[in-house]
Amino acid sequence: MKRIDTDILIVGTGAAGLFAALHADPDKKVLMITKVAKDKSDSYLAQGGICVLKDESDYDSFFEDTMKAGHYENRRESVDIMIRSSKETINELIGYGVEFTKKGDHFDYTREGCHSKPRILYHEDITGKEITSKLLAEVLTRKNITILENMPMVDILERENVCYGVLAKKDGEYYTIRANYTIWATGGIGGLFCNSTNYPHLRADAVAIAIRHGVQLEHPEYIQFHPTTLYSKKHGRSFLISESIRGEGAKLYGADGKRFANEILPRDLLTKEILKQMKKDHKPFVWLDMTVLGKETIVTHFPHIYQHCLNEGYDCTKEWIPVVPGQHYYMGGVYVDKNSKTSMERLYAAGETSCNGVHGKNRLASNSLLESLVFAKRAMQDIKTQKAVQSSCDLDDLAKETIEKLPKDYVETYKNIVLNEIKKRKENQ
Ligand SMILES: Cc1cc2nc3c(=O)[nH]c(=O)nc-3n(C[C@H](O)[C@H](O)[C@H](O)COP(=O)(O)OP(=O)(O)OC[C@H]3O[C@@H](n4cnc5c(N)ncnc54)[C@H](O)[C@@H]3O)c2cc1C
Repeated sequence: MKRIDTDILIVGTGAAGLFAALHADPDKKVLMITKVAKDKSDSYLAQGGICVLKDESDYDSFFEDTMKAGHYENRRESVDIMIRSSKETINELIGYGVEFTKKGDHFDYTREGCHSKPRILYHEDITGKEITSKLLAEVLTRKNITILENMPMVDILERENVCYGVLAKKDGEYYTIRANYTIWATGGIGGLFCNSTNYPHLRADAVAIAIRHGVQLEHPEYIQFHPTTLYSKKHGRSFLISESIRGEGAKLYGADGKRFANEILPRDLLTKEILKQMKKDHKPFVWLDMTVLGKETIVTHFPHIYQHCLNEGYDCTKEWIPVVPGQHYYMGGVYVDKNSKTSMERLYAAGETSCNGVHGKNRLASNSLLESLVFAKRAMQDIKTQKAVQSSCDLDDLAKETIEKLPKDYVETYKNIVLNEIKKRKENQ
């Protein structure tokens, strides 16, 4: 077994992991590990945009829209922190070279379902790629940060509710990674579903590990389905048809050619309406008419969606496209406080894998990139305030013990652990 020592370990190289790393003290050794290649994260896939409090007069309605979408189950303090930190976060992104689409000299703000006002910054329809690739480029310039790819975390090294790092695997060999602090930034859970917009390698590993080690969860049963992914008979990741397309006026139709729902309903409610219509029509999809947006808007604002539809055989500037709901986002997850601390000593979580309460029961569109960044930074800020680590343990013993306890087929076992927990919580609702 090989051993690596670091000050701070970050598991995951999506927006949350990268932003946390960028806020570490430059004299601290930061190691980032990721399951596959460093640019294969959902953060790269975000299309619609990122919310911002563009001026103070929008605070109340931004807050209310977030709460309303979340069925008022959101933690109010977390929502306030996210909104209040949004401008600073956007300015930091711009500082790292992120470009947002402008109209003339000013940013162009768009609107998505459930937003009462346009407050979303975007970069064409590839906002996530623009943000995450610039964050990654910045991370790669930092001498104190190392990234190791194709190195999944398989467990944590835990004793008496203290996290001493993780057990990882690379090229079939186990690695003991000792860290003073560990941050889970492992993203969503879409890999557990057959129809999801997420990368299939995002399989809720951290949630399964949390359950095995008694780390507190919050609402693991709160899962968001996106109402509109492109219906395809091909296997693999479902392609998202961004909500901003409906925000801009696209309409949904049933098999009878009639509209059946308000297209800018919150995601959970619209998903229910679409599933109802599919059942009524005995069809695996409903229709989305984007043609009303006009060719110029489609081609300039949504060039990648336009191209993807063309590749699938649909010219969305001229014809309706078939759409179906797909698993999209995880509101629940590993419980964290407002500083992204889990219930385990020296263990933090940020981004989609964590639940800081911002989204409540249902996420408002374009709040997740912002929430991931704001609370990832807070994790690192909190680590900076911690006194030097005191307790230690025999890591070799702990690593051996951890391997012995690891289920033989841990991949399948972890999946079942999470799905059973979700089922149990749903039944108890
Ligand atoms: C198609 C799509 C469109 C979206 N559009 C928007 C949008 O417009 N606006 C918005 O705000 N949000 C959007 N989202 C949601 C948003 O992109 C995500 O919530 C956010 O990027 C999550 O960031 P993250 O860093 O937490 O996770 P990710 O970016 O998914 O990163 C997770 C990382 O963890 C690694 N990992 C996972 N398990 C392990 C393991 N066991 N060991 C080691 N590494 C591991 C992965 O390899 C990856 O590097 C969209 C999501 C999708 C899928």
